[in-house]
Amino acid sequence: MKRLVCALAASLLVGVSAAHADIRLDAGVTINEDTTPAPLVQQRPRLERMWVDIDPSEVTPAVNSKTIFLNFCQPNGCVVKPGPPNSINNTWNINGQRTLRAFSNSDTVKNAVVMCMRDVFGPFGVEITTTDPAPAAHFEIMIAGRPQDLGMSAGIGGVSPFSCQQFIPNSLVFDFSDVWNGNVEEICSTAAQEIAHSFALDHVTDPSDPLTYFGFNGRRRFKDAPVQCGSDCVQGQSPFGDACSGPNQQNHRCACSGQQTQNSFQTIKALFGDGTPTPPDVRIVQPKSGANVQPGFPIGVEMTDDQSPGRVEFRVDGQLILTAPKAPYAANAPMNLAAGTHTVEVSGFDIYEAKTVATVQVYIGPPCNGEADCPMESDACIGGRCVPGPSVVGGLGSPCDAGPDCASNQCLSDSNGNRHCVEDCELGKGQCPSNFGCLDAGGHGICWPGYDDGTGGGCNAGGAGSLAIGLSMVMLALARRRR
Ligand SMILES: [Zn+2]
Repeated sequence: MKRLVCALAASLLVGVSAAHADIRLDAGVTINEDTTPAPLVQQRPRLERMWVDIDPSEVTPAVNSKTIFLNFCQPNGCVVKPGPPNSINNTWNINGQRTLRAFSNSDTVKNAVVMCMRDVFGPFGVEITTTDPAPAAHFEIMIAGRPQDLGMSAGIGGVSPFSCQQFIPNSLVFDFSDVWNGNVEEICSTAAQEIAHSFALDHVTDPSDPLTYFGFNGRRRFKDAPVQCGSDCVQGQSPFGDACSGPNQQNHRCACSGQQTQNSFQTIKALFGDGTPTPPDVRIVQPKSGANVQPGFPIGVEMTDDQSPGRVEFRVDGQLILTAPKAPYAANAPMNLAAGTHTVEVSGFDIYEAKTVATVQVYIGPPCNGEADCPMESDACIGGRCVPGPSVVGGLGSPCDAGPDCASNQCLSDSNGNRHCVEDCELGKGQCPSNFGCLDAGGHGICWPGYDDGTGGGCNAGGAGSLAIGLSMVMLALARRRR
């Protein structure tokens, strides 16, 4: 394959661009991919590869760096100039010295691109940094400017050297961020694609792999599967001159292996090894530990991950009751749970299977008719449920700042800024304990201190009606944290 490529492109003698003294691109042969869009779905601006011949003796068995430097060329741009052996890249027309203008999108976009790259390369033992590791060896992606800055034609999304060696030592690639109009996913997947070309990876037809030319909504990740090479054919030919096939004439053999497929995930993993797993943060927001609950009680989970939360498995007493593939993470306990203590266990996974387990214990007692039926003397009985009462920190009516302060995980505020822990009640049923009333908080009831709901179980506070009106309006604006 390589012989064919070199023969094909032999007329395009090329030079070399080097941005830093520590970055060097070897002389080689360019492969100019036609900028005509692939005849499929939405177009990505084309990404070019420059063929480089790497002296195999420079390619050590182990990769020479496990660092990828994202260089946003801020604040003043990056100076890019031809490097040794000082031939001029006529095709890309880098004459003399040029300045790639700085990354022009917001810090928000920049940080999101960095997070995306850390996410996409998370499975691999390679560090993504924004600090120049020089003089240490490293891979580098300049994420900045536009192709015209380097004398290339408009519409090129990125460029990279390409070789069939296992990696290109100290490879420098370009991701022209101005082309992508602030689109984080496109800037990120272009960076991923360009640097992956330095690991002998070709284009593929799977639109969800960063190595594709095809459009995709969402985050592209390196696929751990044999994926068809292609997506870059023009008039029936691959950029390397291979005949294309397939329903859209977009399949071709992979440039280096000559096989139809490549596994980008395993190729990169072979180079860098496994990444350090970063398990998600998993929190059971409902029920609270030690809560007195009824069979079928709701279980709510919040899970956050550096980038990529995956599924949550819900277990009660060791029995798997539900797997939620994505947020919202909520389930109900079985209805047939007996009285006594039960263990709720949730296992949260990120998409790379890093796992965190959280548990709470809850108590099921018979429905109460009054406080005397409850296990704790401090409990209140609301609609048959025993709940932590007003004398308990976090109990009904306690002052609070936010849901987690409350046993119920519900902290609501009235229009005067008074915040109390509340519990659900049924309107008009007189379920709230003395000194509380069941207040309509927008279609559902909550027990509110000092509110007279007219059921006579209530309360001694006069003038609560006017409070209730203000309260109801505030309630509507508050997002209840309950799931
Ligand atoms: Zn490419």
